[in-house]
Amino acid sequence: ANRKFHPTDTVVDCGFGVKIGGGNFQVIAGPCSVEGENLIRIARRVKAAGATMLRGGAYKPRTSPYAYQGMGVEGLDLLCEARAELGMPIVTEIMDPRDVQIFLDKKIDVMQIGARNAQNFPLLKEVGKTQTPILLKRGMSGTIDELLMAAEYIMSEGNDNVILCERGIRTFETRTRNTFDLNAVPVLHYLSHLPVVADPSHATGYTRYVEPMALAATAAGADGLEIEVHDDPSHAWSDGAQALTPDMFDDVMRRIQIIREAI
Ligand code: PEP
Ligand code: MN
Repeated sequence: ANRKFHPTDTVVDCGFGVKIGGGNFQVIAGPCSVEGENLIRIARRVKAAGATMLRGGAYKPRTSPYAYQGMGVEGLDLLCEARAELGMPIVTEIMDPRDVQIFLDKKIDVMQIGARNAQNFPLLKEVGKTQTPILLKRGMSGTIDELLMAAEYIMSEGNDNVILCERGIRTFETRTRNTFDLNAVPVLHYLSHLPVVADPSHATGYTRYVEPMALAATAAGADGLEIEVHDDPSHAWSDGAQALTPDMFDDVMRRIQIIREAI
C-alpha cells in the first residue's frame, strides 16, 4: 500500500466502466440496509442524481444481536437485480470468511469490509485471495497506520484492488456519532497510492451534517464518497438518522460537482 513502492495512484476498476482513483471520482450511494422492494426505487433515484455505484448491506454488523441483521442472500439477490436493471456496480458488506464463495458466485462487484472487521485478519486474508475490489473501512478506533496494515493483509494475499475509506473514529466527542478525521484524506494520499473514499454518513451520524462533510471531503481530494440514502428515513431499518432523502441527495450531488470543478 506504500507509495514508495508505487509512485503513481492506483486506479481500481469496479466494473461497468467505473474506475476509482488517479483522478477518477465516484459516488457510492444507497440505503444502509437492503430492506426489500424500496431498494430499486432508491437505486433509480441515486443513479439519476449521478451516483455511479449502488450500496446496501445484506449482512449487517449490529451492536445488538436483537437488532435487524440484514436479509442475507435474499438481499444480495435484490442488489443483483438492481445492478441488472441499472448497469451499475454494487457494493455490499461481507462479515464472514465463509461467505466469500457466495459473494463470488453472485459476482458482487465490490466487497465492503466494515469498521468492526477492520482487523478481522482471517476475513482480510480470505478476501485477499480474490480479485474482487475491496472497500476497506477504517476501524472504529483504528489509526491510519492500522488501516494501511489492514490493506497490507489483503494485498499480501494477492488482491491489489483495495479502496481505503475514512468513516470517522471514536473519540471523546458525543455530539456526532463519530469524529470525521478529514486529515486522513491527505495523509492517506501522501502515504499510499490506493484510492481514498470518505463516508460522511457514518462519520457524522446525522442527516444535517452529511452535506457539509461530503463537500469538505471532496475539497480535501477524496477519490469518492459513500453516502446513505433512504426514501423514508424515519422508517429505515438501520441508520435512518443519518440518511439523506433522494431529494437531498440531488442537491448534494449538484454541490459536489461545483466543488469538483473548483479544485
Ligand atoms: C455501513 O456502511 O453500513 C457500515 C456498517 O459502516 P461502518 O462499518 O463504517 O460502521
Ligand atoms: Mn449504515
